[in-house]
Amino acid sequence: MPMIEIKNLHKYFGDLEVLKGIDLSIEQGEVVVIVGASGSGKSTLLRCINKLEELTSGEIIVDGYSLTDKSTDINMIRTEAGMVFQQFNLFPHMTTLQNVTLGPLKVRRMKRAEANNFGMELLKKVGLEDKAKVYPDQLSGGQKQRVAIARSLALRPKVMLFDEPTSALDPELVGEVLEVMKTLAREGMTMVVVTHEMGFANEVADRVIFVDDGVILEQAPPKEFFSNPQFERTRTFLGKVQ
Ligand code: ADP
Ligand code: MG
Repeated sequence: MPMIEIKNLHKYFGDLEVLKGIDLSIEQGEVVVIVGASGSGKSTLLRCINKLEELTSGEIIVDGYSLTDKSTDINMIRTEAGMVFQQFNLFPHMTTLQNVTLGPLKVRRMKRAEANNFGMELLKKVGLEDKAKVYPDQLSGGQKQRVAIARSLALRPKVMLFDEPTSALDPELVGEVLEVMKTLAREGMTMVVVTHEMGFANEVADRVIFVDDGVILEQAPPKEFFSNPQFERTRTFLGKVQ
């Protein structure tokens, strides 16, 4: 059974058809990088997988649970699929550790001592154990994004969705966030990553998907995708980002 199965997904905003029949199957442990021009529907696709957007038609199944099935608990889906955004959205009045432990305490109903231990373990994983008691405004953008990743991991997701996680960062801070993502990938996390970091795609992705105007125009393993794109539109896009 695939971890994520998307069948003939269509999404409209009013009269605007943004996703025009997406079929996509992602295996457990697979790292899929989604690329495409601005406005092509990449964020909408990720948001549908997490049910931050309602589907107009079609079906999405995450870890065996259909998102369109009325009996599926949406909060459960949101903990199965963690999402990391371009903007980190940390709570400014909470320390790093409190940001990370909020989910386990509220959603997983973990005891505080256990949540703190787990939170410290996650901060260690993202290289920020020494920042546990610091507030977000004392962190760099790269550190904030690493806390945001730790916060998502705190719900023990089966899938991690990343929507341009390094786009808001100064160039010198991009690498530290990509390193954390590479570690997750190596550990076998199923990941769907929207990014313009083609080096990351080349190194880490099992598959690169090119979304063009609401459809998957082509997909291939990175070596093949970058060396031999099949469509002129893909070549044009790659010419702009590489
Ligand atoms: P990408 O992430 O590839 O840049 P998006 O998925 O954000 O693209 O957007 C795809 C299209 O959907 C764009 O035309 C955008 O303006 C439109 N769109 C996205 N979200 C909304 C919304 N909430 N309401 C109306 N239109 C939207
Ligand atoms: Mg987007």
